[in-house]
Parts: sequence; structure tokens; C-alpha cells
Amino acid sequence: MLSLIGIVMFQVYWCVNAYKVNKKNFDANVDVAMQKAMDDCKKDYFDSIRVVLVRRLSDPRVKIRIDTMHEADTVHKQLSITMSAGHWGAGTPFNTTNLVYNYYSKMVGPHPTVPQVLTEMSFYVPGLFNYYSIYLGTLDQETYPKQFEKFKAYNNTYIFVPEDVMLKLDSGMDNSIYGFPPNCRKADSLKLTKYLSAELDKNALHAPFFLHFSTKPTNPGKPSVHYSKTNEYSYKYHGFKVFGIIGPEFFARAVFPSPYHVILRSMSLIFLLSIVLIVSSITGLDYLIKLIQKQRKLAELKDDFINNMTHELKTPIATLTVAIEGLQKFNALNDPEKTQRYLQTSRSELVRLNDLVTKVLNISAFEHDKISLVKDSIGIDELLKDVIASEKLKTDKPVEIDYKNNGLSTIIADKVHFRNLLVNLVDNAIKYSGDHPQITITALNAGTEAIFSVKDNGPGIPKSHQQLIFDKFHRIPTGNVHNVKGTGLGLSYVKYIVEAHGGTVTVKSEINAGSEFIISMPL
Ligand code: ADP
Repeated sequence: MLSLIGIVMFQVYWCVNAYKVNKKNFDANVDVAMQKAMDDCKKDYFDSIRVVLVRRLSDPRVKIRIDTMHEADTVHKQLSITMSAGHWGAGTPFNTTNLVYNYYSKMVGPHPTVPQVLTEMSFYVPGLFNYYSIYLGTLDQETYPKQFEKFKAYNNTYIFVPEDVMLKLDSGMDNSIYGFPPNCRKADSLKLTKYLSAELDKNALHAPFFLHFSTKPTNPGKPSVHYSKTNEYSYKYHGFKVFGIIGPEFFARAVFPSPYHVILRSMSLIFLLSIVLIVSSITGLDYLIKLIQKQRKLAELKDDFINNMTHELKTPIATLTVAIEGLQKFNALNDPEKTQRYLQTSRSELVRLNDLVTKVLNISAFEHDKISLVKDSIGIDELLKDVIASEKLKTDKPVEIDYKNNGLSTIIADKVHFRNLLVNLVDNAIKYSGDHPQITITALNAGTEAIFSVKDNGPGIPKSHQQLIFDKFHRIPTGNVHNVKGTGLGLSYVKYIVEAHGGTVTVKSEINAGSEFIISMPL
């Protein structure tokens, strides 16, 4: 029992631990998914910037000049990019090398245009993007002079302007390529949700989540077993501005309020194994306990049987010894009447001994299915009267045996065994019914079956034993003293023989109100 509790506790501990490990895995996986979603947003952002930049650099108001130096080394030739936009003339050129230009030119594709190459380069070459943005920004200033007046009024320097101010000042510039999307925060959230959902789907992590955006970094908070959240990532992929180049920075994290079912689903195999282990442990233990109980009962029955048999065998042997000694030593042979009495006693003791041996042999025979029935027609009245007469002869008690027959003249059965089983029942009725046994034997023709009943006025049989008395060796315990001798084999023999004839045997009994054994045999 203790080991079972141990196993169950271990299983529970194991499952809880497995849950914790899976929860950590889940947290790590969703974090990776969030990073990937962020990367996807970034990629999207750069793709859109690429389109915008190429278009802007192709604007006829923007002039780009690329000069190469005359140098001996054709590979590492210096290359200078000079830009002018609208009324802004060319300023200091941006210097790089031929090698860099050719590298990005190959990256774009087979026949790249200059704006395409310069756009691609600006993603990687430090300072180049800033160089363009100055020119493109001034172009915007010329196009939207009123809005830029407002910006300047807010802040004279071209540095970062907070999001809310920027959005307010931005009105009227919606069509500018540098303008924010009108609902940028909602758009960001939709985009990130889309990419994160796709990423979660890919990894079979279908837990509901929501995104949390904030303009300032928030405290990471302690990890909890009840819900999950990813790390906070800076999100700035929503269009780009001249001021600050890129738009305002958000901080985004995904929150999973109920990750249980995903985690538990990933643990279904562990649960299944645990349940199988617990169930098999319980059934194993149950089987073991039942087996031990059965063994113990068998050992008790065996001890009882040996005790009873010793008594049963010793009594006739002792009586016979005394009778023979009497005949030998005390000249009983000269007294014919005494001789007769001694011989009669010896004979009846030998009959008892024979009965006993037959009972044991019968048991062993039907245990190995060796009993073969020889069926014959049996006259009921004749058989029962004979049984009653011999039973009365056998006992010293004053027995009253009442016999009633209700229309049953013959049955087909094995004569010897059928007689034996009736003898067993009447024997028991006499044995267990105190000093004045009153027995009623009834035979009844019930149409398709013959019913025999043997009823006594004995002590009765407790309900809990009424089934068990038909088991081999089972005797109702009466403490250590058995005042009525027996082997516990009689009723099991009765049951075996009745069933071999296709019949049934039952008992009706109340404590202190006698017992009735009822046999029903097919006709
Ligand atoms: P036994 O040799 O002990 O009589 P049985 O198989 O004939 O063996 O009976 C089994 C047990 O059933 C008996 O030990 C007894 O306790 C109980 N029993 C059988 N018949 C009666 C009866 N007529 N009245 C009370 N108890 C009975």
C-alpha cells in the first residue's frame, strides 16, 4: 500500500515537474516565435522602404552623380556619389569604392538601375541613408512648407519628435511618402499578430495571445506558471520620417493568458504513461493482495482439514482398538452377547472409516474430473426411505425425520452418487441440529424438474457463509473447538454431483431458525 502511495506521489511529482519543464519550453518557444515575427515585420518594413526609396531616388527632381577616380587599381577604385534635390545644389559627395558598389549591384539582380543599387547599399553602408534623407527631407520641406513650419515651431533641430506630437503635426502630409500610415499603431498590431500567429501555427503552439504595446520599456515581471509572456521587443517598423528617420519606437510583447491546454496537450503522452503505470500498479497490488488472502485462507483450511481428519480417523481407530483389546484380553469371546456388541461397534466404526475414505477419494476423483455417472431410473420413495432408515440407525440422537412426496415417483440419476449426496445432506442436518433434530425431507414434481428439500431445526447458517459452505474444506468457524466433526468436503461433493446432473443446489437459512437445502434436478 505504502509503495502504491509512493508510486502515485512520484507520478504526481513527475507530472508537476514535467509541466514546469514544458511551461519553460513553451515560454522559450513563444519568445523565439515573437523574435521571428519581429524579424518578419522588419523584413516587411525594409521591403516597403526599398520600394519607397527607389521611387524617391528616381524622382526627376533628384539628381545623382557617380564619379570614379582614374586609378591604376581598377578593383579598388574610389567612387563618389553626389546628390542634389530641387533647389538644393550638390554638397559634399559620399565616398565609397567601386568594389562596394559592384557588390550591391550584383545583390539586386542582373540589370540593376542606379536608384536600386543605391537603395540596397543604404541598408548596409553606414551613413548613406542619412546622406539621402537630408536631400529627400529638404525636398519634402519644399513640398509641404506649412507642415514643416509647424515642426520647426515645435523643435528647431532635426531630432526625434515624440509620437503624439508627430502624429498631430503630420496632418496634411498623409500623401507624403514619409507620412505615417493613418492608423499606424493598429496596423503594427495587425501585422505583428499576423506574423506571430503564423509562427505559432508553424510550431503547433496554438495558444490565445494578445499584444501589449507601450511607448516606454516596462518591467519584465516575474515568470508565472499561470500565464506566459515573451520578452519585450522594440518595434519601429511603421514607415519612416525625415525627423528621426524612423518613426517612434514602441515596445511590444505577446501575452498568453491561458497557455495550459497547449502545455497539457504536449504532455498527453506523459499523462497516458502515468495513468497506465498507476492503473497497472493498482491492479497488480490488488491481484497480489487477493492472492495472498487466498493463500492464507487455503493454509487455514488445510490446517483445519488436517485437524479434523486426524480426529475423524483417530476416533474409529481408537474404538476398534478398544473393542479388539476387549475381545482378546477380557475373555469377551466366551460371552457371545458381548462379542456381538463389540463386533457390531467395530463394524459400524469400520463403516464410518470407509465413509470417510470414500469422501476423500471422491473429492480427489471429482477434482480430476474422474467421476463418470452411470444414470439409471431411481424409485424416489424407496431410495429416501432407505436413506432415512440407515441414517436413523447410524445416529445415537433421537431423530425425527418427516418425509413427504408430492408426485415424484422416479428420476434418472446415478444411483450411488445421488444416494451419497442425500446421505450427506441428512447427515449434516442430524450432525448440526443439536440434541433433538427434527428433519423434513420433501420430494416434489415441479413439471420440468424434481425438487428435493432437506430442512432441519439446527443453528442455521450465517448469510456470509451461505455461498462459501459449498467450497471445498470450508467449515463455518466456531472458534478453535469444533464440537461437530467434519471434513468440509460433504457439501462441495453435493454441489459437484448435482451440477454434473445439470441441476442446482441452494440453501435457505436464518440464524437459530434452521437450514433448508434445496436441490433441483432436471426431469
Ligand atoms: P462438514 O464435513 O464440515 O460437515 P460440509 O461440506 O458437509 O462439511 O459442510 C460445510 C459446513 O457447512 C459445515 O462445516 C457446517 O459449518 C455448515 N453446515 C452444513 N450443513 C449444515 C446444517 N444443516 N446446519 C448448519 N450448518 C451446516
